[in-house]
Amino acid sequence: MTVTSDIYEISNPKDIPSLRRALVNRLIYSIGKDPVETNERDWFFALAYVVRDLLTLRWMESMRRYYLQDAKRVYYLSMEFLIGRSLVNSLLNIGCYNEFKQVLEDVGLNLDELAEAEEEAALGNGGLGRLAACYLDSLATLQLPGFGYGIRYEFGMFSQSIEDGYQVEHPDNWLRYGNPWEFARPDVLYRVQFRGRVVEYRESDGEVRYRWIDTEDVMAMAYDIPVPGYGGETVNNLRLWAAKASRDFELKYFNEGNYIKAVEQKTRSENLSKVLYPDDTTQMGRQLRLKQEYFFVSASLQDILKTYSADHRGFAALPQEVAVQLNDTHPSIAIPELMRILMDEYRVPWHEAWNITVQTFSYTNHTLLPEALEVWSVRLFEELLPRHLHIIYEINYRFLKEVSERFPGDLDLIRRVSVVDEEHGSRLRMSHLAIIGSHKVNGVAELHSRLMKTTIFRDFDRIFPDRFVNITNGITPRRWLNQANRDLAALITESIGSGWVTDLERLRELAPLADDAAFRERFRAVKLANKTRLAALIDKRLAIRIDQTSLFDVQVKRIHEYKRQLLNVLHVITRYNRLRSGKSGDIVPRTVIFGGKAAPGYHAAKLIIKLINDVAKAIDRDPAVDGVLKVVFVPDYNVSRAMEIIPAVELSEQISTAGMEASGTGNMKMAVNGAITIGTLDGANIEIREHVGEENIFIFGHTAGQLEELRRDGYDPWRYYRSNDELKLALDMIATGYFSPDEPDRFKSLVDSLLRDGDKFAVLADYGSYVACQEEVDRLYRDPEAWTRKAILNVAHCGWFSSDRAVREYAERIWDIPTCR
Ligand SMILES: *Cc1c(COP(=O)(O)O)cnc(C)c1O
Repeated sequence: MTVTSDIYEISNPKDIPSLRRALVNRLIYSIGKDPVETNERDWFFALAYVVRDLLTLRWMESMRRYYLQDAKRVYYLSMEFLIGRSLVNSLLNIGCYNEFKQVLEDVGLNLDELAEAEEEAALGNGGLGRLAACYLDSLATLQLPGFGYGIRYEFGMFSQSIEDGYQVEHPDNWLRYGNPWEFARPDVLYRVQFRGRVVEYRESDGEVRYRWIDTEDVMAMAYDIPVPGYGGETVNNLRLWAAKASRDFELKYFNEGNYIKAVEQKTRSENLSKVLYPDDTTQMGRQLRLKQEYFFVSASLQDILKTYSADHRGFAALPQEVAVQLNDTHPSIAIPELMRILMDEYRVPWHEAWNITVQTFSYTNHTLLPEALEVWSVRLFEELLPRHLHIIYEINYRFLKEVSERFPGDLDLIRRVSVVDEEHGSRLRMSHLAIIGSHKVNGVAELHSRLMKTTIFRDFDRIFPDRFVNITNGITPRRWLNQANRDLAALITESIGSGWVTDLERLRELAPLADDAAFRERFRAVKLANKTRLAALIDKRLAIRIDQTSLFDVQVKRIHEYKRQLLNVLHVITRYNRLRSGKSGDIVPRTVIFGGKAAPGYHAAKLIIKLINDVAKAIDRDPAVDGVLKVVFVPDYNVSRAMEIIPAVELSEQISTAGMEASGTGNMKMAVNGAITIGTLDGANIEIREHVGEENIFIFGHTAGQLEELRRDGYDPWRYYRSNDELKLALDMIATGYFSPDEPDRFKSLVDSLLRDGDKFAVLADYGSYVACQEEVDRLYRDPEAWTRKAILNVAHCGWFSSDRAVREYAERIWDIPTCR
């Protein structure tokens, strides 16, 4: 039977009575609650089920369309999808927000309040995972057959509370009440093997082949989450895998009569998808992490090949039908895994399998930081994935052979590009594997891509001159402007029409309005309303009063030394000192807002959080700065917090050490919401400057090139300390316990990292120009018309940073897939 929309109770999603009936039906028949006895969560679930229903038919239609057109599909493999809440996003994307608002009002409920009952899907750490979520939105909006594959972590990113100024982590039990968006697929189940041994055998055709046997197996069970595009025409799928014990495992112990042991074993294997690793900038080499990576990659590839094989014979056409994007190296084990499946299970010869593999995969690099690059000990691989280790060795052998033929005698080159790093005790460099096994490798901003080609992957760029490309990151305008900033979205639509939602470069049409005093007035009113709303939330949740007319100066992102929250704090302390000593002139009142999580094992980052809170406290207690300076640390920064904060930002702090932030996407979200950036020439800040014009952004500090020179000539942080009295004072105050009288040495290690350990992130080198630049910020803010004009031009010229543009570039330059309507 074919599914048609007339079998469903909602014949027309704009028909309010049928929506109301569906909602009440869901409450009664799916939740099992009497409408007179419900709480907000019940209503949220009932509503989410109705919305999922509306998505489901469109989703089936999209899948049928892909099938009938034999469309080439792209699969986005990512360890992280930082989705956030889905209710309002889905309603806006399918165009039913107002209708549902009405339906809820009819039963005495408020849609936006109800939406708060949804748990965040925080299956990611930060930028990388949020990028994956933005790309899914754009794939569906652009009507591209794009599918996400990842892990259904039972516990996502920890939630953060601040206790006595310190970060405290709490487990994120987001599935506690169930996830209304997902469809569990107990019938979509794949076996994933671990450990065991490899046996060699000769087949009747004389070929030597390999069998991986005596393995310990875990099952991967699928959960599907529909991903609606804007306009609701296309609904794609995000498939997340959960670990389930394999029956073999249980049976073994059951047969021995050991029931308890059998159940224990079951829990052990199901631990695999239990928790997201909460650190995206250090590689820890933990066995469970490698198991997670292989687990979701193996299940995804089996699933991809099953879909492909349903109507294709052989694998020669795989690259014409399938593109697989590796989001960082985390899924790069897919390369030997596809080789293994093709060779061991389907008897495809090596050279054929290798061509298919390279043409199918492409890899996105997200960082140049050495401590974040993935390496795995050969020993661990041998234990967990012995067959893959063999295949990686063979890939490496053939690659190095080719290199030595092309560059004879260059033994050092061989040593540098080898997948196996012998200098640090036999480790596999996953980035090398990902580059060798992909037809395209992309960086995520112009500077990052250039540095990638000229520094860490320089040799590879010489070996594969056409392999490296740049695709600058983007953000989805649906969530980050249309949904998060309803008032600004309405003002924009009133001024230039609604086309910008799917064609963000049309924001350019706002540029002439920057010179229109009446428009500036309205734009300013929207920003003030957003600031007032944020101030009310901060008051409600933290009992902190902030002045909504002060300049909102915001740095929200993961806490990391390279992002330089410390530099921001040094400026705050300097401002505080100027105010105390009466040297401030007509300083602009500011509220400096911080937010972000530190990896639980990252001592310095956690101490920076404590420092921010201690500085905030000292400032709070000092009547001399009352009303002119305020510091707030907003706990538990996540997607929902970001959506509350970003529309209220006036000054966007993007102050990483040049060369270290691959792209950043927070910078884009804030600029398109009418914030002005203060930033270094790093990541996509450089491209933001190119788009908005250098007169509409505050740039300071050393460039990546200048820092390289500085370090080459021997960087001496003491020189800056001695020659700048304000810097010296601020550092001395931190070091001697001014902000921590109860424990004067508390922040000694932070100051030591700057003065005694070489200031790896060049905080001191950039302090002077940062503080001077902040004075420029004050100067501009004193002229509200001039400030607003620049803020409007930021909105008008940031349309290029839409993830639609980025995904279109991937589709054309890497995946070679057309839209499928
Ligand atoms: C966008 C986003 C990030 C990335 O921010 P950067 O400033 O680019 O580091 C991190 N976390 C959340 C919740 C986000 O929405």
